[in-house]
Amino acid sequence: RAKQEGRGRLRFYEARMGLQVRERRQIEHDLRHAVERGELKVFYQPQTRIDSGEAVGFEALLRWQHPERGTVPPNLFIPIAEETGSILPIGEWVLRETCREAATWEKPLRIAVNVSAVQLHAPGFAELVHEVLFTTGLAPARLELEITETALIRDLPRALATLRRIKALGVRIAMDDFGTGYSSLSNLRAFPFDKIKIDSSFTRSVDTSEQAATIVRTVLGLGRGLGLPVLAEGVETSAELAFLGAEACHEAQGYLLGRPAPIGAFGHLTAGRLRAAEDAA
Ligand code: C2E
Ligand code: MG
Ligand code: MG
Ligand code: MG
Repeated sequence: RAKQEGRGRLRFYEARMGLQVRERRQIEHDLRHAVERGELKVFYQPQTRIDSGEAVGFEALLRWQHPERGTVPPNLFIPIAEETGSILPIGEWVLRETCREAATWEKPLRIAVNVSAVQLHAPGFAELVHEVLFTTGLAPARLELEITETALIRDLPRALATLRRIKALGVRIAMDDFGTGYSSLSNLRAFPFDKIKIDSSFTRSVDTSEQAATIVRTVLGLGRGLGLPVLAEGVETSAELAFLGAEACHEAQGYLLGRPAPIGAFGHLTAGRLRAAEDAA
């Protein structure tokens, strides 16, 4: 009886696995055509200076509008795209699309673009960044590339060489999800970072957990010591924002300050003085 039950469960398990494998294959396949079918869309989330409350830039966050599945979250499809190599055309599309978009804004706000390990280590990545800046006419200083610690470790010397070439173009580099990866403080020193982004897992409990508060204070101290501005991700409450402001954190990003949305939702932030004056008239 137990044996029978066991077999049944196994069959059930296999069926489920089969479905998962098939589903994954399907996603892999669909991803290959997502760019050309126009199913990808970039959402933008404001990054705000805490002391003045003004928006200083946006992070570009990819969305996949699948014809049958609806919106597929990046945490699901980006790892698959990285494994299959689809991330290369997809990442290039995001970079080009966001630089083209940002070049049209009246205010020279920054645009932060996530770069995966596969892109960073692919031959010609620095040249691609150069070409996209040239083609779109975006000022290099307005582009910031977000790289995680984990993306560096695949090949540290190679990552360093590529990032140095990108820096030489005048592009900024931010360390994303700081504190969650293979954190090595020597990476912070050896790599040409311009900013540290504190992961939302620390920000989230900064007002309720003394440990989280201590970690955030420590990262802020590290930033001060190294002369790097710090941005806190995932700010959802005014209590979190107040804590960060009191601890002299430079920038914040999160649902409290603005959810990721199509750029049209932020026309008031990207419009310059000229447009504002016209609107008032
Ligand atoms: P990330 O770069 O750390 O992006 C921050 C994530 O936190 C985003 O999730 C954003 O929507 C979410 N978030 C922002 N504020 C809040 C908040 O207040 N509360 C909560 N709970 N979440 C908040 P999203 O858009 O789902 O993206 C997830 C991850 O997917 C990103 O993490 C990034 O690693 C990756 N990703 C997104 N777009 C791209 C892309 O174009 N290229 C690559 N390579 N990766 C991307
Ligand atoms: Mg990011
Ligand atoms: Mg992050
Ligand atoms: Mg909280």
